[in-house]
Amino acid sequence: MNGFEAICPKCGGRYYGWALNAERYRLCSKCGSTLEVKRDGVLVAPNSSAGGSGKSEEQRPGLR
Ligand SMILES: [Zn+2]
Repeated sequence: MNGFEAICPKCGGRYYGWALNAERYRLCSKCGSTLEVKRDGVLVAPNSSAGGSGKSEEQRPGLR
């Protein structure tokens, strides 16, 4: 397992380490863009539904 790896889509900067698990560290320190974070080769951020169904989508508080 390689842990986390992040790539800046804008400037190409690469980052490694478990700190990427924290959302606040998912910003490029060079250009400030949101990093594309992968964990063991699987994209985990920005939040694309990682093949997971079953999570209810945003539930609105309705009148009922
Ligand atoms: Zn960057």
